Amino acid sequence: MRILANTSVCIGAGQCVFTDPEAFDQDDSGFVVVLRPEPKTAAETARAKEAVNLCPSRALSLAEVPAS
Ligand code: SF4
Repeated sequence: MRILANTSVCIGAGQCVFTDPEAFDQDDSGFVVVLRPEPKTAAETARAKEAVNLCPSRALSLAEVPAS
C-alpha cells in the first residue's frame, strides 16, 4: 500500500500531521510532505487510513502496490 498526496488540492490543514507525525510533515508553504509513503505494519496502515479519512480536502489517497 502506498500513500499518495495531491499537493494541488492540499489546503495545509495539518490533520495528517496530527494523525501521524512520523508519516506526514508540511513544507514551508503548509503543503503536505509524505515522509513514509509505504506503511508496513498494521498500526502504520491504520494511521494512514485514518489520515486519508480525516483530510478535509481529500488530498490523500491510498493505492495498492503490486507485489514484486
Ligand atoms: S490533512 Fe490534507 S489538507 Fe491538511 S495538510 Fe494533510 S494533506 Fe493537506
